[in-house]
Amino acid sequence: MALRQRGSSPPQYKRYQSYKRYLRVDFEYECVYCSIHENEVGGPRFFTVEHYRPKADDKFPDLATVYSNLLYGCQVCNPFKLDDWPSDDPILDDTGYLDPCEHDFDHHFAGDRGFRVRGLTGPGRYMVERLHLNRNQLRKMRMLRRRAERQHEREMELLHEFAAELRNVRPTSLQLHRVESHIAQKIQQWSDRLKPIYDIEDYREDE
Ligand SMILES: [Zn+2]
Repeated sequence: MALRQRGSSPPQYKRYQSYKRYLRVDFEYECVYCSIHENEVGGPRFFTVEHYRPKADDKFPDLATVYSNLLYGCQVCNPFKLDDWPSDDPILDDTGYLDPCEHDFDHHFAGDRGFRVRGLTGPGRYMVERLHLNRNQLRKMRMLRRRAERQHEREMELLHEFAAELRNVRPTSLQLHRVESHIAQKIQQWSDRLKPIYDIEDYREDE
């Protein structure tokens, strides 16, 4: 994932949890570390407001509600990181945590065989290890995503082949319209898979 950008400018809140609704939009409903999508785990209830610089009393308590220090993380990655903070400058020290809004993750991580992720730099390798970015859950998720992608590509190929053949046999305009609207619908469905299907209010009674 390339460099992230925050689009929101929320007001100052007393509770960091209040920023969750902004963070999920700014980070496109995905965990900034492992990239699992809200839709894949049941919505924002399974995500947390993640503190880039830990909010622990002996770390950065003053940054607990500073928006630029907050990220959107899943409930699995969050406890792996906790208050771990080995370096204030991960590039200079070649270890520690990268800020997705400051460091382009594409320079630090690459896909590897077997649906694994490889750290390309010191901090990349540190994060892969500390956050368990090759845990089985994530490798399976990557496999399912890849499978869905391949299936979509194959379906689109077949549909386009079918439409091309249909045009050769002088179809009625209704037949042509039905095939073309089916293709358009398939394309739309594919891009809609990244839209959040859950709402932050969905779990209000639990909170
Ligand atoms: Zn995660």
